[in-house]
Amino acid sequence: MNPDEFRKQAHLMVEWMADYMEHVEDYPVKSQVAPKTIYNQIESSIPDHGQEMEAIFKDFKEVVLPGITHWQNPNFFAYFQANTSPPSILAEMLTATLGVQGMKWETSPVATELEEKMMEWLRDGIGIPNEWAGVIQDSASMATLSAILTARERLSDYQVNENGFEGFTKLRVYCSDQTHSSIEKGAKIAGVGKKNVIKIPTNDLLEMRSGLLQEQIEKDIEEGYHPLCIVAALGTTGTMAMDPLEAIGRIAEKHGIWLHVDAAYAGAAFLLPEYQGLMKGIEKADSFVFNPHKWLFTNFDCTAYFVKDKKVLLNTFSILPEYLKTASDGLVNNYCDWGIPLGRRFRSLKLWFVMRHYGMEGLQKLLRLHIDLAMWLETEIDKNSSFELVVPRSMNLICFRYRPYEIEDEDAINTINEQLLQHLNAMGKLYLTHTKINGIYTLRMSIGQTNVAKSHVEKAWETIQKVAEEIAMNKKI
Ligand code: PLP
Repeated sequence: MNPDEFRKQAHLMVEWMADYMEHVEDYPVKSQVAPKTIYNQIESSIPDHGQEMEAIFKDFKEVVLPGITHWQNPNFFAYFQANTSPPSILAEMLTATLGVQGMKWETSPVATELEEKMMEWLRDGIGIPNEWAGVIQDSASMATLSAILTARERLSDYQVNENGFEGFTKLRVYCSDQTHSSIEKGAKIAGVGKKNVIKIPTNDLLEMRSGLLQEQIEKDIEEGYHPLCIVAALGTTGTMAMDPLEAIGRIAEKHGIWLHVDAAYAGAAFLLPEYQGLMKGIEKADSFVFNPHKWLFTNFDCTAYFVKDKKVLLNTFSILPEYLKTASDGLVNNYCDWGIPLGRRFRSLKLWFVMRHYGMEGLQKLLRLHIDLAMWLETEIDKNSSFELVVPRSMNLICFRYRPYEIEDEDAINTINEQLLQHLNAMGKLYLTHTKINGIYTLRMSIGQTNVAKSHVEKAWETIQKVAEEIAMNKKI
C-alpha cells in the first residue's frame, strides 16, 4: 500500500471511528453472538493472494463488529472499565505509525524519557513518595509477578537468580481472601506454589484483618517458613474493599517482608485529594501497581508499576548480552531491565496525550462525576425496599441485589438475581457482572465509563427495576 492509498484508507477509517464514537450506544453493549460464530466465518488459511482494503474493511464491519463487546459504550457497567478516550486513541494511531520498539534508551530515547516523566507525573499525582521510580508494564498481573520475583530475589540475596531454586524453599505470600487471582498466578509462576499463598480472612467490609495477618506470619516463622511478600489490595475486584495499608505496612516493616500494593482499578482515584487518606502507610510498602488502562481514560494496555528501590528491581531483571550493549548503558534508564519482556511498546505517548488533554482538573472532574453517580444510585437503591446493597458503596462501585420481601429462601433469591443479570445482559442495553459475597449472588455496577452521564445511570436503574419485577411476576411469587 503506498502512502496515497494509505491516506485514502486512513481517512475512511477515521470517519468510521468518529461515527462509532458518536453512535456507540446503538450497538448492544455485550456481544450477542454464539460461540464459534466468528471463527466459522473466517477463511481457514492465509489467503493465496492479497486482498483489497475495501473487502477487508467490509468484513471488519460485518464479521468483526458483531463479536465486539462495546467496552466504550457508556452503558458498560461490567467488571471494571477498560476506558479509552479521543486523545488516547490519537496517540495510539501515532504510536502504531511510528512502530517504535523502546526496549533500550538508544532504540528510541523519547520512549524512555517520556515514560520516566509520565511515571513521575502519576507518582506525584497519586501520592507515592518521590524517591520511588515507575515503569509501564502491560498488566497489573505482570507487575504483581514482578513484585513477587523481586521479593524472592531480595530474600535469597539474589541466590535464586544465580543458582536456581535449590535449597530455597518454604516461601509464603499473604493476601486477603478477596484479592485478585493474579497473586496466586504470580506465586505459581515464581515457584512459591499456590498452596503457599495464605489468604487472610476479612472483616464485614471485606478488608484484610491485619491482626490475623500478624498471627499467621508469626506462626509461619515458628514453623520454618520464609514470609516473602504481602499483597495489600486498595480496591478488591469483587467489591473494591480497601485493606488497611498502614497496619499492614507496620507488620511488613517489622518482619522485613516485601509489601506490594494492588490498586489496579482504584489507583486512579488517588488523584483526588479526598481519597489520598487510603494511601496512608504507602512509605512502608515496596511496590505499587495501578492501571491507567482501567479508570484513567488511557487505552489498554498501560499499567503503572512503582518501586521504592529500583536497584532491587534491576538486580532481579537486568541482563546484558553483547548484542544489547550500548554506549549509554549505566547513564540512562533501559526499561528492558525493569521487567520481564525485552521488547517494549511506546506506551507513554498516550498517557502524555491524555494527561495534557484533560489536565488534573479534567481528570478529577470525571472521576468525581463517576463517584457522584454511584452515590446517586446508592440512594435510589436505599429508597426501593425490594433492592438492597450487599456491601456499602466503595468509590464508584455498587454491589446490590434484588430482594423482594415475599421471598425468604436465599437460594431462590440467588436464582432470581442470576436470571436478572442474564436478562439484562441479553437485552444489550447495559452490561453488568456479578460476584458472590458470603454466598450471596451480587450484581456489580461499576460506574466509570469515560462518557457515562446521569441519564445512563437513571435509565439503567429504571431497566433493572422493571426487569426484576417482570421476573418476579412471571414466577408468581
Ligand atoms: N488486581 C485487581 C484488584 C484487579 O481488579 C485486576 C483486574 O481487574 C487485576 C489485578 C488484574 O489486572 P490486569 O488485567 O491488568 O492483569
